[in-house]
Amino acid sequence: MTKDRWRPAYIGIGSNLDQPIEQVKQAAEHIKMIPESKFIKISPLYESSPLGPTSQPNFINAVAAIMTCLSAHNLLNELKEIEVKQKRARNVEKWGPRTIDLDLLVFSSQTINDKTLTVPHPEIKYRDFVLKPMSDITLDLKIPELDNVEDLLKKIENNSIMIKRLD
Ligand code: ATP
Ligand code: CA
Ligand code: CA
Repeated sequence: MTKDRWRPAYIGIGSNLDQPIEQVKQAAEHIKMIPESKFIKISPLYESSPLGPTSQPNFINAVAAIMTCLSAHNLLNELKEIEVKQKRARNVEKWGPRTIDLDLLVFSSQTINDKTLTVPHPEIKYRDFVLKPMSDITLDLKIPELDNVEDLLKKIENNSIMIKRLD
C-alpha cells in the first residue's frame, strides 16, 4: 500500500531581469524536476507593470499547477533552491527587480501562517498578475478562506496595474 498523498499546489512565477520570458520558461523546466511531484500545467505568460518601485522593467508572470507529495514547507524549499539556481539576488528593496520569484500561492486546502510560510499567499486577492494566469488554468478553484478565482478576479477589475497576455 502506498502512503503517497498527492496534493495540488499552485506556484506564482515572476521575473523582470535577464530575459524574463526565458527565465519564466526555465523556472517551469525546473518546476518539472521537483521531486515527488508531477507537473500539471503552466498558464499563458502575462506582462505587467511593476508593483512597488516603478523605475524597474515590467514583469513577466505565469502560474504553474503541480501535484505533489511534498509538504508545503519542503515544496517552498524546492522553490527557493530554484531561485538560487536562477541567480535570484536578495536585494534590500522590497518588490525590487529580480531574475526569478517563485511564490507558493495555494497548497491544497491548507492554511499555514508561520515564520517562513503563509499559505494561501496573502496578496493573491489584490494581484491580477496572479489571478489572471490562475484563472486560465483553474477558474473554479476555491482558495481556502477566500472566494473562487473567478469571483476574486471580478472584484479587482479596477486595478490600475497594466497587464497584458503574451501569446
Ligand atoms: P510577496 O510575497 O509580497 O510577493 P516577495 O515575493 O518579493 O513579496 P520574497 O522576498 O521573495 O518576497 O520572500 C520573502 C520570504 O517570504 C521568503 O523567504 C519566504 O520564506 C517567505 N514566504 C512566506 N510565505 C510565502 C509563500 N507563500 N511563498 C513564497 N515565500 C513565502
Ligand atoms: Ca512575490
Ligand atoms: Ca517570493
